[in-house]
Amino acid sequence: MEQNQIVSLSGGKDSTALLLMMLERGEPIHSVVFFDTGWEFPQMLDHIDLLEERTGIKIVRLKPTLSFEYWMIERPLTDRRGYSWPSPIRRWCTREKFNAINKYANQHKPWVQCIGYAADEAERQSKEIVKRRRNLRFPLIEWDITEDMALQYCRKRGYHWSGLYDVYRRVSCFCCPLQRMSDLRKLRKQFPELWQRMLDMDSRIDKNGGFKDYKTVHDLDRRFADEDRQMFFYKLSK
Ligand code: SF4
Repeated sequence: MEQNQIVSLSGGKDSTALLLMMLERGEPIHSVVFFDTGWEFPQMLDHIDLLEERTGIKIVRLKPTLSFEYWMIERPLTDRRGYSWPSPIRRWCTREKFNAINKYANQHKPWVQCIGYAADEAERQSKEIVKRRRNLRFPLIEWDITEDMALQYCRKRGYHWSGLYDVYRRVSCFCCPLQRMSDLRKLRKQFPELWQRMLDMDSRIDKNGGFKDYKTVHDLDRRFADEDRQMFFYKLSK
């Protein structure tokens, strides 16, 4: 029996290119699934709407059972409230995402999930957890499409994410602690309202398990403010 191809769409350049290329190649698509973490850049949500409008495909929008803010800040646990910020060893957020997409896919058996890993990030495909799952397909790797090629392809078709990819090389949840430090600096400077949202969430965490190598986002904010001050005086002294 033919498997239902479910496209996993994060909305970023790679999964967008994946969807558009599959359509261009006439690949059968059962459905396109977008998991809205609630921590998306507003520009990304606009992009999803645009993609839906232009392709004419109804994008299935999934959400966590309870909001990420609830899991992080409110959820009653034995010794505290909330899981605190995600970290490499506390990726409760990706577990939620994985479960929601799997739950959806299991309602449409037999299925194969198409994931937009690019050819130059094939190491993600070789991770143990991914290797153990057989019903995954990585068309961009099959077609040798790199991240740069994916971005160019999307741009040529008029997708610009309102400039998000002029700022970032990769786009994920705006407050992801697993992103690069340089990207967090950019967030603070170029998207101050989102940075403020991070600070507000940080203040509400009961026992903060830390954000990257910092105890809190507020500590990181102080570091960035210090850097700005030093740069200001450096420029004055020149
Ligand atoms: S991008 Fe970061 S915060 Fe968002 S789901 Fe993935 S690991 Fe979690």
